[in-house]
Amino acid sequence: MNKIGKEKFYQELDNFLVTKLRPIPEHRSECNYVRFEDNFPQLTNHEICQQMFWNAFKGYSKMYIQIGCLRDDNSLFNDSEKIMYEKGAEAGDDEKVIILQCSLLTLQMLDYDIMMFGAMSEGGDEEYRNTAQKHYRPYLFSYVAEIDKSNYEKLKELQNKIVGSQTYSSSDEYVENYKNGQLQYQWLPCTFNSDINENSIKLDGYVVQSASRIEKIKANLTIIEDENTPKKVRNRIFENYKLDKSSCKDDKTFIEEIEKKLGNTPLSTIDAYKIGNGNCVFAQSNDTRFFYDIGFNYKHRPKKISHGSSYNYSSSMQKIVVNDPSFVILSHWDMDHIAGSYVARKNIFEKNWFAPDCYDAGTNALRLAKYLQMKGNLYLANRPPRKSNAHGRLIGKIAIQKLAIYKLYMGKKTTCDSSHSNCEGIVIEYYDKIKNIRVLMMGDVNYDSFNKARSTEPSFADTQIDYLIVPHHGSEHTNYQQITDPNKPVKMGSKAIICCTDDPNINRPNSGHRMKLEKRFGKNVITTEEAKNKAVSITISL
Ligand SMILES: [Zn+2]
Ligand SMILES: [Zn+2]
Repeated sequence: MNKIGKEKFYQELDNFLVTKLRPIPEHRSECNYVRFEDNFPQLTNHEICQQMFWNAFKGYSKMYIQIGCLRDDNSLFNDSEKIMYEKGAEAGDDEKVIILQCSLLTLQMLDYDIMMFGAMSEGGDEEYRNTAQKHYRPYLFSYVAEIDKSNYEKLKELQNKIVGSQTYSSSDEYVENYKNGQLQYQWLPCTFNSDINENSIKLDGYVVQSASRIEKIKANLTIIEDENTPKKVRNRIFENYKLDKSSCKDDKTFIEEIEKKLGNTPLSTIDAYKIGNGNCVFAQSNDTRFFYDIGFNYKHRPKKISHGSSYNYSSSMQKIVVNDPSFVILSHWDMDHIAGSYVARKNIFEKNWFAPDCYDAGTNALRLAKYLQMKGNLYLANRPPRKSNAHGRLIGKIAIQKLAIYKLYMGKKTTCDSSHSNCEGIVIEYYDKIKNIRVLMMGDVNYDSFNKARSTEPSFADTQIDYLIVPHHGSEHTNYQQITDPNKPVKMGSKAIICCTDDPNINRPNSGHRMKLEKRFGKNVITTEEAKNKAVSITISL
């Protein structure tokens, strides 16, 4: 008799554990596995993830790394934003490095996610579906690599060699958009075993994995040059992690759904957390609370990894995860804006999440998005297709009685930032009508992208902004010249907060950007790292 409900789920999980998670290859047989002890303790999702991570380190499951396409004509080594230096800015060319952040995936993880996603989206058997949704939580397994010029050239050459074979099935228009986004990546076979003799590219870096907290583990990674990622594997990955278009909402619906959650009272506080080079903002009123990004310090240099040092921001994380939001808004899906959610309380996935479409996000982000979609909690604002020249826009406004007003914008892709997802992020403008205070929270949307989204409204320079959460961690490539307009009087504000580690070696914040901010905010330009005493955030009290 076919099993159903809980029993069916646990039998499938058992089957995965025995045939995929803990196989003994030399003794493997195809005979049907029968479980004898009914009270055999089930492995939790957390324990399974730990085992999968361990297996990845031991080489017990074939592993692939998803690396962004380096084949563009513009070398990242010509982009001063991306460059970091071994010995300060005077270093020679051979001392320059770039930091790449990539998703890792083993076949075991792929099998696990395929099984879980299948169960979680099962339509007919509610108990089976719910059991799976309760068991699972999205996990994070990624690699941050430090790439010198020679490895950069090698990777580029390898990508050039294998490109062209990357096609995916299906022709639906929405899926086409996904395909175009996913073609920005290449999957390469890799291993943590550095003894292999084949042609290989050895990378220096660290693994970021989510367990009960975010762990960073220094590890060398070897990319195997003579192997391809089979088309079958690439298609399985694509099919499994792509979203269906049900979560994409028109602007009106997107705004109406947020409006339902926003309550009737104006905001009282906004906290920008000290979380390194990442964004995590928490806004509260008497009857609502929401995260605007829930990120984590991500792209720092591998050599900084050492025991007990502050890169983990654990005291901030402890405070962040106990917040119980009514909903979540993401500016965009980059890891430094979402990674905190992998270790937050699990009920964060019970809330509605509002974000731009993520067709071009990496696999770790898509795993999170897919889980939210299967739970019916994902609302995505449309983004223009890659090749269009669509303008940024006001997605919509929401009035809180006659007291306050929210405006949500989507930025337009501009040339000062190469990342589409940064430019096409969601900006929140909040205006308290009674107190006449305006707060602007920009994610990684640069000033030019924002101005283009405003179209007929006054520009950034010409708008009274009392509190600013500065875009893109104070990056250089934000067209920060547009902070003021030489033909107009300067509109002074109260405070500008930059979410970054305050580290000149990585140009966060960029000094030119900071100086320009000081023209409007005077001495009150502050990084989250400067939070005083034991504070883990900089608070805006409204
Ligand atoms: Zn960012
Ligand atoms: Zn970003």
